Amino acid sequence: MTDSSIEFGETENQLMISEMIRNFGKREIAPYMMEWDEKQIFPIDLFHKMGELGLMGLLVPEQYGGSGMGYLEYVTALLEVSKIDGSIGLSLAAHNSLCTNHILSFGSEEIKDRYLPMLASGKWIGAWGLTEPNTGSDAANMQTVARKDGTDYILNGTKNFITHGKSGHVAVVIARTGQKGDSHGMTAFVVEKGTPGFTAGKKENKLGMRASETAEMIFQDCRIPSPQMLGEEGEGFIQSLKVLDGGRISIAALSLGIATGAFEAALKYSKERHQFDRPISSFQGISFKLADMATKIEAAKLLTFRAADMKNRGLAVSRESAMAKFYASETAVSVANDCVQIFGGYGYIKDFPAEKYYRDAKLCTIGEGTSEIQKIVIARSVLK
Ligand SMILES: Cc1cc2nc3c(=O)[nH]c(=O)nc-3n(C[C@H](O)[C@H](O)[C@H](O)COP(=O)(O)OP(=O)(O)OC[C@H]3O[C@@H](n4cnc5c(N)ncnc54)[C@H](O)[C@@H]3O)c2cc1C
Repeated sequence: MTDSSIEFGETENQLMISEMIRNFGKREIAPYMMEWDEKQIFPIDLFHKMGELGLMGLLVPEQYGGSGMGYLEYVTALLEVSKIDGSIGLSLAAHNSLCTNHILSFGSEEIKDRYLPMLASGKWIGAWGLTEPNTGSDAANMQTVARKDGTDYILNGTKNFITHGKSGHVAVVIARTGQKGDSHGMTAFVVEKGTPGFTAGKKENKLGMRASETAEMIFQDCRIPSPQMLGEEGEGFIQSLKVLDGGRISIAALSLGIATGAFEAALKYSKERHQFDRPISSFQGISFKLADMATKIEAAKLLTFRAADMKNRGLAVSRESAMAKFYASETAVSVANDCVQIFGGYGYIKDFPAEKYYRDAKLCTIGEGTSEIQKIVIARSVLK
């Protein structure tokens, strides 16, 4: 790169995090991940261990027990984890940048003191509930309501597709306190597991990301005292959009990790696999695929680290995080597809890594706003 304004040399912290995760992943993730995938096991002990390494509170300041790092380190950590197993990356992203970051950004001092040390240490797992069965992209039309009753709020409704909806110890939940469709008619609350009226519903059986738990959260006359509110009444949806600006950088990093893992596997295999007495990498049809994959990954990396760098500097990143998320997730899908193709028949069977990258990658174009929704955000900014 020649333009120093977009030079992202790796910091010592980034190099240290990458090496630590590679070693940890070799020992604690790689040997078990296919079993977790096959049986849809959410390996909660692994997240406690990642907490001990500081990975569960990467963006949380040290005063609340976190690692006090920035977005460049956060992206690096997610990328390295997701190179090994995307589903662990997805859970790490949901815990750090959705639940924990919402509390960090908008919680009162009392709330931050109570929850951040538990979340940052990985003793507690966090969930974040915006999506509902009938409102995904159109989240502002949510049906879950929080009715004021004295100084409390009574929650009723169902959130679905929630990462850690069942195993999460604490959840940030966004519910309607005003009119449908009013962006100032929703409020965010912190709800602890075990609160009467709060139960987990169905755990989803998924195509990919199978070690990351996805489940319903059900609220039936669930009484929440008002100090559990994040910020002011009516701010929940606007807060969520800000949380998602950061969250989308994490899904871009997750996508980048899956794409890089798939590329590295395909590159290695293409040099080892011989057909017609030559390594398949010597065929132009294969080498051009590798060239496309490598170029798309580099472009996705630049978009992702640029958004992370801007976020670190406190700049508005709606457009940049949408671009990074959109491009990196589509890249993950296309690179994983090429990876399966390069592995041929072996790409289709579970003894080789290609099929898992392929299944895991698809979520990246859907979660935290589909590719179509990212294009709406980008188009709005382009047409402004
Ligand atoms: C594994 C997994 C984990 C998840 N984790 C969480 C979580 O932790 N917390 C949470 O709150 N949610 C979570 N989600 C939900 C996720 O964010 C939603 O699935 C996503 O936002 C899409 O919503 P939907 O599924 O209702 O699709 P829909 O909104 O019904 O969209 C269906 C299709 O219509 C398209 N579409 C919709 N509106 C438009 C439009 N205006 N213009 C063009 N096309 C449009 C979409 O792009 C998509 O292709 C998770 C989902 C999955 C699968």
